Amino acid sequence: MQFKGKTALVTGSTSGIGLGIARQLAAEGANVVLNGFGEAAEIEKLRSEIAAQNGVQVRYDGADMSKASAIEAMMTKALAEFGSVDILVNNAGIQHVSPVDEFPTDKWDAIIAINLTSAFHTTRLALPGMKKAGWGRIVNIASAHALVASPFKSAYVAAKHGVAGLTKTVALEVAQAGITVNAICPGYVLTPLVEKQIPDTAKARGITEEQVKKDVLLAAQPTKKFVTVEQVAGLCSYLCSAGAASMTGAILSIDGGWTAQ
Ligand code: NAD
Repeated sequence: MQFKGKTALVTGSTSGIGLGIARQLAAEGANVVLNGFGEAAEIEKLRSEIAAQNGVQVRYDGADMSKASAIEAMMTKALAEFGSVDILVNNAGIQHVSPVDEFPTDKWDAIIAINLTSAFHTTRLALPGMKKAGWGRIVNIASAHALVASPFKSAYVAAKHGVAGLTKTVALEVAQAGITVNAICPGYVLTPLVEKQIPDTAKARGITEEQVKKDVLLAAQPTKKFVTVEQVAGLCSYLCSAGAASMTGAILSIDGGWTAQ
């Protein structure tokens, strides 16, 4: 129960990696603010289930991470309801795949807003309270694409490299305030974000879905295994622990060896 009495806000936590992180932090005693899109009844089921299973308070805020005003309202409400946001996990993210000269400009804007700029807003709004408390943890869910590129993912790769830069900069600014700021760079994790790409890729390449997983998605991942949500959540939990107080400004790979090549 290392996070008992702490409040964690996890953006994009109605699905995939964010949901796994929210579950893990709640299991270790944190009150949680869930955020993200989805069907209202499904989200309410998740919210009440996580609260009941762990004996913690769980709130849901449907703020759109592409809108600064919605992020401001979410942070104000979280601070008013819980008194502090001690752990901030910037996880919300979207993807679009297209050659750069055909990249829809609205998709570019949305990816930069959700995957990068939202972390600037949540960070600037969470920091005053963390500074006052003399304790805080910010974990940015970046990607292997914060370190290396793949073709046709210009906006995503640019945003994720930006997240790495934001992580290092903020870490330096708050290094003496008891606040750490780190980025986690997962390789492929089999979440809805990735699953959605499989049938289309299979059709486009005329291969089976199993072949897409092994020969396309895991082509660059030496373990030939997907990283799991639980493994990413475990690393996030460690970064939020007392023992990780000296880890800050780190860009941490959890990618089955992808970026070692
Ligand atoms: P996912 O699609 O399962 O979950 C994304 C979450 O973000 C959902 O809760 C969704 O509702 C939310 N979201 C999307 N747009 C939003 C918006 N405008 N406002 C608020 N919430 C919004 O995806 P995932 O795979 O769990 O991805 C989570 C993060 O991990 C992303 O930042 C992604 O880039 C990163 N990542 C994923 C992988 C992977 O292989 N799955 C690898 C590396 C990094």
